[in-house]
Amino acid sequence: MASVLVLGAGIMGLSTAWALSRAGHQVRVVEQDPVPNPRGSSVDDHRLIRHAYGVQAGYMRMIAPAYAAWDLLFREAGEVLHVPTGVLALSEAPHGWLADSRRLLRADGHAVEDLDATAVAAQYPFLDPTGITGAFRMREGGVLLARRIIARLAALLAGRGVEILRACVREVDPARASLVLEDGRLLGADALVVAAGPWGPRLMPALSARVRPTRQILVRLAPPPDLAKTWTRAPMLLDLAEEGGFYAVPPVAGTPLKIGDHRFAPVADPDGPREATAEEAETILAFARRRIRNLDRYRLLSASACWYDVEAAERFILEKAGPACFLMSGFSGHGFKFGPLLGLAMARAMARPDLAEALPGWAAGTHPPPPGLLEDVTEERRT
Ligand SMILES: Cc1cc2nc3c(=O)[nH]c(=O)nc-3n(C[C@H](O)[C@H](O)[C@H](O)COP(=O)(O)OP(=O)(O)OC[C@H]3O[C@@H](n4cnc5c(N)ncnc54)[C@H](O)[C@@H]3O)c2cc1C
Repeated sequence: MASVLVLGAGIMGLSTAWALSRAGHQVRVVEQDPVPNPRGSSVDDHRLIRHAYGVQAGYMRMIAPAYAAWDLLFREAGEVLHVPTGVLALSEAPHGWLADSRRLLRADGHAVEDLDATAVAAQYPFLDPTGITGAFRMREGGVLLARRIIARLAALLAGRGVEILRACVREVDPARASLVLEDGRLLGADALVVAAGPWGPRLMPALSARVRPTRQILVRLAPPPDLAKTWTRAPMLLDLAEEGGFYAVPPVAGTPLKIGDHRFAPVADPDGPREATAEEAETILAFARRRIRNLDRYRLLSASACWYDVEAAERFILEKAGPACFLMSGFSGHGFKFGPLLGLAMARAMARPDLAEALPGWAAGTHPPPPGLLEDVTEERRT
């Protein structure tokens, strides 16, 4: 049995620790903050999972195995923390993300229902259809209850003897698969996985040329009482516009309605403030005001910042960074839905050099999975 150190207890570190412990390894996770970590990219009420991926067919095709990985995790955790909502995607542009998504989804046999602006107005009267040139709806897709997932996963790991050590790492030595903690202690193991989210570039200097931490703003709203029920049954909303589209996460399972935007924000220190200013909140509300009727009747509950780790082409980085060191980074605001799948793939790749070689291309969404990489979820789908 090999010993493995995992740096970071976000969805990537914990999922990889889960997969490694399932494979019989002795795992220790090192995390600077309490778990679930409110400063981490993974911790919020929700994260979305959906098939629509523009021209990025590789990620669209990763959704089915991602769902199988979630099924496996939820079964072992004893709780399903996904709420199906379906997807409503709207666009003001005849070409681009929505049209590309629809074409590739259909080519792969997914059921996609087209809507025009009149149908959107009739079926979703709380939305303003002005300017919509295209829309589609999918039954698949939903909300992952992110904070609860992280808490459940941490408890599952504790029950399996995985230690989560609360300590801040000062230095990573990829060549020796070791970590130096802030208090000077040296930790070593047979292998090391670095999954430090937006802090990754600071710990792995070579990464700073490829990944930048950006500060993204979110607002949480309470719909007016007469629309509260309507919103809990609403699909996730993806509103694509050249100038500032937004997404809305419906208030499922006791969570608030949440709105964020699609643009990457400027680079910022991930140790920076989590509170958003009134001005920052207003930039997000301005996008939503164009589409959600009477937004001023909605009560603003809070506005906060959360960090992305952005790779230029929005492609994940899962690769070897030393003889026994592996890196997970560049999740570019869309990694959560793939956490358990990437963790299982990472654990497989760590054990087989041929899989480790193929891992980066698959994780970047440019290559199909090599045979054997997704064995755990293939088994899961058969059962
Ligand atoms: C606003 C927002 C909305 C998003 N929406 C979606 C969505 O709808 N769907 C989706 O799939 N994805 C979404 N994402 C992206 C997704 O949440 C991230 O890709 C994912 O959570 C990244 O997980 P991680 O484990 O890499 O990072 P993190 O969760 O940040 O975990 C990294 C951990 O490493 C720890 N760490 C870092 N440095 C050190 C150190 N020196 N010592 C010890 N510990 C350290 C940190 O404390 C942290 O807990 C969204 C992200 C944001 C911010």
